[in-house]
Amino acid sequence: MNIVLMGLPGAGKGTQAEKIVEKYAIPHISTGDMFRAAIKEGTELGLKAKAFMDEGKLVPDEVTIGIVRERLSQPDCEKGFLLDGFPRTVPQAEALDSILEELDRPVEHTINIEVEKEELIARLSGRRICKTCGASYHLIFNPPAVEGKCDKDGGELYTRADDNPETVTNRLEVNMNQAQPLLDFYQAKGVLTNIDGQQDIDKVFADLDALLQGIRS
Ligand code: AMP
Repeated sequence: MNIVLMGLPGAGKGTQAEKIVEKYAIPHISTGDMFRAAIKEGTELGLKAKAFMDEGKLVPDEVTIGIVRERLSQPDCEKGFLLDGFPRTVPQAEALDSILEELDRPVEHTINIEVEKEELIARLSGRRICKTCGASYHLIFNPPAVEGKCDKDGGELYTRADDNPETVTNRLEVNMNQAQPLLDFYQAKGVLTNIDGQQDIDKVFADLDALLQGIRS
């Protein structure tokens, strides 16, 4: 089960990915999470990524493709994986094809969670993340039980640096410009399925689940 989950920032990829990996027991590989972890740990990778991320720009391909190659080569990916946030460009998608070929793994399925731009801006501006476990909330659409605290572990909730209003619009534009050729790339391969991401969280997951059941059988 080699799956690529696509969708613009705020489309709900992270939220749905959590549910998918829990049910299907495959590793969740989020390049954004990997970069954020590296920044927190103060590694060389974190230093390289931070300046790009803070400005809402893409981290250069040579850095990003390298970390994905390394991660996909690990044994826990043998039964499948869920990629979230990678690929984001056609060169990254081509690199993924050659990584999968090198590793002798079957071609991936690509799922695109679709949400309109205005809705994405509203979602990103209200997003809050747990400092401890990374769980994602929204002030209005998915609030925690206790304001400012994570439901799972009571961790403090914060706003991601790249979710501030000035960065959000730039980030969406960068991503929209790059998403279309990527969607065309996977459409042409016949592995792309679009899912309506404007429904509530459980309904989006029900649609994804139905699709994944079909892929698995
Ligand atoms: P995300 O958590 O997926 O929204 O990613 C947050 C930030 O990490 C992005 O705005 C980029 O700066 C960086 N990033 C994540 N994935 C990639 C990627 N595939 N290519 C380049 N930069 C990435």
